[in-house]
Amino acid sequence: MDCLFCKIISGEIPSKKVYEDEQVYAFYDIAPMAPVHVLIVPKVHIASVNEVTSENSAVIAHIYEVAAKLAKELGIAENGYRVITNCGADAGQTVFHLHFHLLGGKKLRVEMC
Ligand code: AMP
Ligand code: ZN
Repeated sequence: MDCLFCKIISGEIPSKKVYEDEQVYAFYDIAPMAPVHVLIVPKVHIASVNEVTSENSAVIAHIYEVAAKLAKELGIAENGYRVITNCGADAGQTVFHLHFHLLGGKKLRVEMC
């Protein structure tokens, strides 16, 4: 499958790994929008939130557990952070492998859209 994040997970394309387990892979965003900008992705290919079903949604809960753990480890838990998923063209999704942006390390803008 010609998917950038599947290639990053497999190691075919290099990345700066932050965390990995049997279900998820986390790495630094190549174009950070905050002092801490990590992407957390399921290893299974799910194109976007539109493809989340009762069959594959357990990994989403796990991703939030990993987000909480990484936020603590990266020193942003106390001051706060944002976990964002873009879905589709209007939200600006550019990579169609579900991913969660973990953003923090500065006062984030209040505007959500
Ligand atoms: P989105 O716009 O929500 O689909 O987010 C895709 C994110 O992937 C963007 O923030 C990009 O900067 C990031 N990105 C694209 N290519 C790479 C790469 N090779 N390594 C790390 N992050 C990447
Ligand atoms: Zn993929």
